[in-house]
Amino acid sequence: MPRGPASKPLLVAAASVAVVVGLGGSGLLSPWWSQFVDDLGQFGAGLAATLACWLGAPRHTGAQRRWRLWMGAAACGWTIGQFIWSFYQLFRDNALPSPSLADAGYLTLPVFALPAVVSLAAARPPADAPRRRPGQLVMVLDGLIVVGALFVLTWATTLGSVARAGAATPFAYSVAIAYPVTDLVLTVIVILLLAASAPAGRGQLTILGAGLLCLAFSDSVFAYLVSKGADSMPPLADAGFVAGMALVAVAALTPARPDTAPPAARHARWAHLMLPYVPVAGTGVLLIVQLVRGINMDGVEIAVETAVISLLIIRQAVTLIENAMLLDRVSDSQARLTYQAFHDALTGLSNRVLFHDRLEHALALHHRDGRPLAVLFCDLDDFKAVNDRFGHHTGDRLLRHAAGRLRAAVRDSDTVARVGGDEFAVLLEGGGDPGETAERIMDAIGRPFEFDGESVSVGVSVGLVQAGEHGTVPSADALLRRADAAMYAGKRQGKGTLVRYRVDLPDGRGSSDLAEALAATLRDGNGLDVHYQPIVRLADATVVAVEALARWTHPSLGPVPTDVFIATAEEIGLIRLVDDFVLDRACRDAAAFRGPWAGIAVHVNASAARLGRPEHEDTVREAVLRHGLVPHRLVLELTETAPLPDLAEAAAAVHRLGRFGVRFALDDFGTGYNALAQLHAMPVDEVKLDRTFTVGGGRSEAICRSIVQICTGMGVAVVAEGVETDEQASAMAALGCRFGQGHRFGASGPLAAIAPADALDVVDAATVRPDAPFPAL
Ligand code: C2E
Ligand code: MG
Ligand code: MG
Repeated sequence: MPRGPASKPLLVAAASVAVVVGLGGSGLLSPWWSQFVDDLGQFGAGLAATLACWLGAPRHTGAQRRWRLWMGAAACGWTIGQFIWSFYQLFRDNALPSPSLADAGYLTLPVFALPAVVSLAAARPPADAPRRRPGQLVMVLDGLIVVGALFVLTWATTLGSVARAGAATPFAYSVAIAYPVTDLVLTVIVILLLAASAPAGRGQLTILGAGLLCLAFSDSVFAYLVSKGADSMPPLADAGFVAGMALVAVAALTPARPDTAPPAARHARWAHLMLPYVPVAGTGVLLIVQLVRGINMDGVEIAVETAVISLLIIRQAVTLIENAMLLDRVSDSQARLTYQAFHDALTGLSNRVLFHDRLEHALALHHRDGRPLAVLFCDLDDFKAVNDRFGHHTGDRLLRHAAGRLRAAVRDSDTVARVGGDEFAVLLEGGGDPGETAERIMDAIGRPFEFDGESVSVGVSVGLVQAGEHGTVPSADALLRRADAAMYAGKRQGKGTLVRYRVDLPDGRGSSDLAEALAATLRDGNGLDVHYQPIVRLADATVVAVEALARWTHPSLGPVPTDVFIATAEEIGLIRLVDDFVLDRACRDAAAFRGPWAGIAVHVNASAARLGRPEHEDTVREAVLRHGLVPHRLVLELTETAPLPDLAEAAAAVHRLGRFGVRFALDDFGTGYNALAQLHAMPVDEVKLDRTFTVGGGRSEAICRSIVQICTGMGVAVVAEGVETDEQASAMAALGCRFGQGHRFGASGPLAAIAPADALDVVDAATVRPDAPFPAL
């Protein structure tokens, strides 16, 4: 059962047709009443179609209104014809009033139905555009095949007999032949329009087309009967007229479907493909029936059927050629897509994906038979300035030319890829000196580029990493990251440099092998250690305190410079773990000092960014209490690697911990962001003058003197950092600085190496009195 907006009217129409045909053809009524019911049914259906079209038209706009107006005119003309016909038949007792005035009415139907169908088809969206549609030539061939096949069918059934039967007058002959001819034309047009319209728009057109086909069917039967000299038309043969007009009414009542209907179903596409074959198959069946019945084909049938079959063969050939061309195009575009997926559109070089793939392959070979491989990471220097000064067009040209020079500087077997805006990666396989290749690349890129008479210069920074160096061979990603880290380190040293990867290179981009290993160390604590460096009174070189310094030994790479891993820990947000480890160890160790070191202070570095966080204060208190250290003996050194987010909050934290007893020092004083403001705001006990002032030169002497003066005025002790020589020590002492730290007094080392033997005996924590006098600094 049909579902959708047309289902109800369709049911009503089907019921009406059944009543009319059933009652008219049942034989229950007298012939006249049968005829009356039949004629009334046809007239009623025609009137219903006319009213449905014309009353519905004003409720629509555009093509939806137009086709209803045209179809209303067609149905109206037909209904008038039917009225006249019925009049002749019922009241003039003329069984088949043909030709008559009624024909004038009937024949208006094809005249107005044609523009109606065309308007309706035009109102539909074109057959789903993205789907491949048959080419123009195939469409024309299909049309001709359908026309030819239907012609053969019509000719064999009605047209032939009408044409052969002839008529009394040329006018009568024209009228007689007009029906099958116009029916043929309408049928062909409906079929072709249905095939060409989008499935989404076929609802109304299908119903209307079906109605017109029903009308054409009964028309043909009628024309055939007339040509055979029949004297009446059985009511059943009129069913096509009643059903046809009823369907026209249903089509007019059916609302237009939105254009967003689901895409064509597979069977609808198959129906479209089968279009030319169905009518041809129909002619085949017909010809077989004729043969069986001993009817020979006449000349017209033979000629048209031959033409139809020839057209079918041509259509087949054209379709094959089109398919072959299509396959070619598909494989071309597949190749193009594959190329685009693995290459950079601007330079034509490999892209990151292809580079990664090649690198993984090269690494596999390296693992298998030790084939050497190196990666160069090249980043153009000052490329942004080129874009800013000469525009992006010139920037793009430069990238293309630089890519060409890069390619020319390496072997054909090497892979050059563009992996970022102005970043290129080169994979060197099969030996040779990668350093030399890098130099060649730097020379090539360093030569000025000439664009439209302008000379544009850029440099290139190159990072180099070789598989097999630094222990285990990392993954492709890690290797590329190492080359990137080396390049980045080069950029920071100054541009236009070649830097070979070293394990201690932070990549400055938030991740490195080092970061991963450090994170692992901090999770399990293995590999971290604490060294101590003495802080002395300059006057007599007595040790008054020791500074605890974090040390990290990488499981396979060995000791990593403190600056490097501290910066890495800060980058990855794990500095807290380093600080807490050192704090705990320092408190434990200091609490155990005795003899000459009994009661000396221990300095512990603390990241200033953490100051003010409640968890930090708790950690400090707990560490001190846990090990029974007198709080005064702990000096927290504040190092400012980033501006303090809230100086007031940091100062409050210093106050709170200060009340607990812990003391504070400003580390590397003079290099931070806001040294004097911090000195002013925070109640610190010490200032550690950065070693840049200690080594002297420039105006450092004046600065040192002023700082010492300010600090002394405030009651803040000053420690000179990085004192390496006697001269520096006495110069600092002469400026009023009382304390010093540096290689002159001892480098940092494990506690056992730097402490006097009698300072490290295990002491009972209870012997350390909480109020033990603290050596003044
Ligand atoms: P800092 O706190 O200023 O530590 C002094 C640094 O100067 C130490 O470097 C020390 O070895 C070095 N040094 C000492 N005397 C001399 C000298 O005469 N000449 C020269 N050239 N250098 C000298 P180290 O151990 O590499 O530590 C570097 C920095 O790392 C420290 O500087 C500190 O800012 C940071 N750091 C160390 N341990 C920790 C820690 O546990 N937590 C935090 N947040 N930072 C730490
Ligand atoms: Mg320090
Ligand atoms: Mg320092």
